[in-house]
Amino acid sequence: MSATATSYQVFIGGEFADSETGETMDVIAPATGEVIASVPRCSAEDVDRAVAAAREAWPAWSEKTPKDRSELLHRMADVMDEHAEELAQLESLNVGKPLMASRDEMPFSADNIRFFAGAARVLEGKSAGEYIEGYTSLIRREPLGIVAGICPWNYPLMMAVWKLGPALAAGNVQILKPSEQTPLSLLRYVQLLAEKDVIPAGVLQVVTGDGIPVGQRLVEHPDVRLVSLTGDVSTGKTIARVAADTVKRVHLELGGKAPMVVFDDADPEAVAAGIRLAGYWNSGQDCTAGSRVIAGPKIYDALLEALVPQVESLKVGDPMESDEIEMGSVISSSQQERILGFLERAKGATVLTGGEANGSKGYFVQPTVVTDVEQTDEIVQDEVFGPVVTVQRFADDAQAIEWANGVRYGLAASVWTRDVGRAMEAVRRLQFGTVWVNDHLLPITSEMPHGGYKSSGYGKDMSMYSLEEYTQIKHAAFKL
Ligand code: NAD
Repeated sequence: MSATATSYQVFIGGEFADSETGETMDVIAPATGEVIASVPRCSAEDVDRAVAAAREAWPAWSEKTPKDRSELLHRMADVMDEHAEELAQLESLNVGKPLMASRDEMPFSADNIRFFAGAARVLEGKSAGEYIEGYTSLIRREPLGIVAGICPWNYPLMMAVWKLGPALAAGNVQILKPSEQTPLSLLRYVQLLAEKDVIPAGVLQVVTGDGIPVGQRLVEHPDVRLVSLTGDVSTGKTIARVAADTVKRVHLELGGKAPMVVFDDADPEAVAAGIRLAGYWNSGQDCTAGSRVIAGPKIYDALLEALVPQVESLKVGDPMESDEIEMGSVISSSQQERILGFLERAKGATVLTGGEANGSKGYFVQPTVVTDVEQTDEIVQDEVFGPVVTVQRFADDAQAIEWANGVRYGLAASVWTRDVGRAMEAVRRLQFGTVWVNDHLLPITSEMPHGGYKSSGYGKDMSMYSLEEYTQIKHAAFKL
């Protein structure tokens, strides 16, 4: 570890602490490959300590009113706003992502927390009434108790926020586990919250470490009533299997392979600009990244002609060196190898631009456009999670929709056309949790749900729908 690297501690029961074994793990800046921090390498015993603290916090916290919970969330949002620049810098350093992206994520995250501060006070249920003769029935919407959130590395703080907002709004106590690669922004955020004494001990806790044993213990622990994962499909399947043993509720936000269906009447320049953003934002490490362009027979050539210069104009580099950088590194050397592996195995495909690692340090992949691919090819079927976009030419509308739906994922899609009827029909037929028309990726808002169909998972982040995950419904019947 370099002399300038910072040591962090986990946040358990309102105190900052080391892991019980004292073990630590290094955190790397992927744009340089340098070690920038160390964090505790927790074990199952540390998770058990956090669960015990959550159990202790629960009786007092469960007496809080919606107004109390709302006020706590408002204070949390204020702290995020006050320290947005510091948190954005840390996020860019740890993820290797452009500052312009991290600077967007902080106000959006604060807005998300404020949305749930409001939502805490307007939880809905059916009206009380005499649904059975001689009885009054009423509905109570109750928290689950102790819930866990397991987060990925691509939007470390924002994904943690998507989990803590609805969890705390609904009255739960929560334990968060950031990705082992990107724990810094969440740890710093809880330091800031603790400095201002915002969080009652045990209500929100953070443990760090590897998926196994830390994530696994959260999933196994009988007192944890829900696990929300944002992560890989294979991790989701494992978690769902393990959670079955304690009949735990599971919320899964998994991978994606988003199609961008471009009909012949779309504007090629506008679509190319849309792909420049949707395919390469966060180095394509976005579960809703527009990674498969499915273009009509007449627009295909014009689109490629517009697209290649757009992609080649992306400013790629170490985000910490300039505010102008539009695309940073990928998260790790193994992710870089994984992405390049997809390209090597794509025999018969044509790489129109990019296709290689670049930069003398750090883990960079050039923004890449690939054509001449078949629907059944690995590069079309599987999530690359890097700056790689494939372009296919469809024959007719039916084939466009068939190809768009013809993957195991179902998180997000977009349709590009000036014909409203065609767009409506496509929206109806596409099997994805989000469908954008004439845009892709950034039109997201705290009021609208985010979640998958098919192997992209189940349950929703953001919006009032996410409160369904974090609450349980009780029917009480009173004999008159
Ligand atoms: P990952 O599944 O490898 O890790 C996610 C988290 O799960 C990490 O915190 C990890 O430590 C933990 N984990 C790993 N194994 C575990 C286990 N057996 N038990 C409990 N926890 C375990 O995913 P990642 O590589 O961090 O993130 C990339 C993936 O996340 C991509 O597939 C991407 O599409 C997906 N993602 C989805 C969304 C969405 O909203 N659907 C958003 C962002 C990322």
